[in-house]
Amino acid sequence: MNKKELLYYLSSIGFSKKIINAFEKVKRENFVPENLKDLSYEDTALSLQEGATISQPSTIAFMLDLLNLEGKEKVLEIGSGSGYVLALLSHLTKGKIYGVEIITSLAERSRKILEKNKQIEIYNKDGSKSFSEKAPFDRVLISASADKLPEHLYDQLSQNGIIVASVKNSIFCIKKKKTITKKEYPGFVFVPLR
Ligand code: SAH
Repeated sequence: MNKKELLYYLSSIGFSKKIINAFEKVKRENFVPENLKDLSYEDTALSLQEGATISQPSTIAFMLDLLNLEGKEKVLEIGSGSGYVLALLSHLTKGKIYGVEIITSLAERSRKILEKNKQIEIYNKDGSKSFSEKAPFDRVLISASADKLPEHLYDQLSQNGIIVASVKNSIFCIKKKKTITKKEYPGFVFVPLR
């Protein structure tokens, strides 16, 4: 597929104009390794290094949709890899966006690609623990899959906040209102959280 075809595909499966607009604005080829540039607009995950991948566009769209961004939220992405999703997020909120990536070379590369974007800050660290320095977050996106729900992050989530997390082979949408509610969407494949 080329970019136009990918955008058409994403809208044909029902994603909103807002989500499609973000995909239209961001050049995925800038985040894809040189040798895979030709595949930039295929709806597949692409290898980065050390087992990391740049996620599949339709899976990213699904997770962004669940995040239900209205325009001002402060967001944390754990497992920000290439930085592609951080770039997409910056078209969906005007709030601060924090990325945490454990692989140093990916954190550095993504920082470089996104250096002009003052909304985004990337940290090279282990995101499996809490990230209290910048908490609370209105939204948290966990792009590498853990074995269990990220209960340790519930305290770092604002009231009415949402966590979209990959857990094993499912996506969980966790909402914090008076109580915590969870919804599971099975049938996905993710890079494991270390
Ligand atoms: N969303 C990114 C990458 C998804 S792959 C993109 O589209 O490019 C998941 C990423 O999570 C990988 O880059 C992997 O290195 C990272 N990761 C795995 N365990 C992690 C941990 N404990 N802390 C931070 N990042 C982690």
